[in-house]
Amino acid sequence: MSAEPSIFTRIINREIPSDVVFENDHLIAIRDIAPQAPVHLLVIPKTQAYANVSELAAGDPALLADMVAVARDLAFEHANGEYRLVFNTGATAGQTVFHVHAHVLAGGLEEGSLA
Ligand code: 5GP
Repeated sequence: MSAEPSIFTRIINREIPSDVVFENDHLIAIRDIAPQAPVHLLVIPKTQAYANVSELAAGDPALLADMVAVARDLAFEHANGEYRLVFNTGATAGQTVFHVHAHVLAGGLEEGSLA
């Protein structure tokens, strides 16, 4: 695990402001600063021990399942319950923050858009 706090750890610690839409002991959800859909939320584990979804699935599958449950609940709260769940994995796949997070995209997506 990197000793440097990730940008999401700094958000979790309130060192950087964000629009928090959900929080519990293990997860936080915020609005993405550069939304790619009418509803674009990020569901983020509070630990930065896992860089991507593959590491999380291997290391703490229950936490991954919790992320999916929170994503579903947020999609009902902020849209009609239908959503796209995206985990960019690796820089060439578009990942820029190496602290695992799920993009929850909803609210009328363009057909074929990958966000
Ligand atoms: P990735 O590209 O790693 O899959 O996703 C990182 C996401 O974090 C991007 O969609 C980006 O807009 C979002 N992001 C980066 N910095 C911040 C920030 O300071 N605040 C918020 N709310 N979102 C951020």
